[in-house]
Amino acid sequence: MPIDLSTLNIIFGIFVFLFGISIGSFLNVVAYRLPLNISIVSPRSFCPNCKNTVPNFALIPVLGYILTHSKCNKCNYKIPITYPLVELLTGILTLIIFFRFLTPTNVLEALPSFITNETFQFGKFHYNNFVPFFVSLWLLYTGIPLSIIDLKYRILPNKIIYPGIIIGFIISCLNHNLGWSGSLIGIFTGAGGLFFIAKTYELLRKRQGIGMGDVKYLGFIGAVLGWKGVIFTLFYASILGAIVGIIWGISSRKGLSTAIPFGPFLATAALAISTYGDEILSIIFKF
Ligand SMILES: [Zn+2]
Repeated sequence: MPIDLSTLNIIFGIFVFLFGISIGSFLNVVAYRLPLNISIVSPRSFCPNCKNTVPNFALIPVLGYILTHSKCNKCNYKIPITYPLVELLTGILTLIIFFRFLTPTNVLEALPSFITNETFQFGKFHYNNFVPFFVSLWLLYTGIPLSIIDLKYRILPNKIIYPGIIIGFIISCLNHNLGWSGSLIGIFTGAGGLFFIAKTYELLRKRQGIGMGDVKYLGFIGAVLGWKGVIFTLFYASILGAIVGIIWGISSRKGLSTAIPFGPFLATAALAISTYGDEILSIIFKF
């Protein structure tokens, strides 16, 4: 029986989005618990204010926020709007990344070949479509908790950065365009390059401008995007950071010397380069 492709797109879209908001819910837990040194698996979710266990329905991504009227049922603590927003953002970006690199046909064709169907050639795994998909997904799922933690505490925890580098390196070994050597060069370009900039800045200005967390994070980005990708990431993150920093400095009347966390800009730029790198580069070279 042939399947209508547009119906298939809608079905896959719904599943991918639901998967994304569930991951977003988990990333909220990671961002909250990791800096406080609480295990991310146990205990089960509790109210940050009264520490009472949260009822099951409150755990449903996005919907839980509405069903609980955004309040803890025991102490009336107001649940921050950032929780459902992070879930929605993760869901939407997962959906964008999926349809950027894959089609439902790619996924169905990756299924074992013993399932026969006249529309799809099952078992015909298009390996090359999956690698950039996993790269963007990995940058997204690490970038969200890193950004939240950096905004809140001004740190980029090694507990996310180190697994980021290791899994990033493994994905890159499967990437024909990069390979293990390209990934290693990327790590050294990213971390080494920013370390050099950081030390130069310290010598000239006699104060620290770039944290070691940013240096390691750029190493991680280099591991998955290679040396070219990591240079462009630093370039865009700096422009983005400067624009936001100027606007924030003026609007908050704190002046331009106020330090703003760099992690969220690195995360945004890396995700943009990994997902729309070709388009971004073709725009630059038109000018
Ligand atoms: Zn409570």
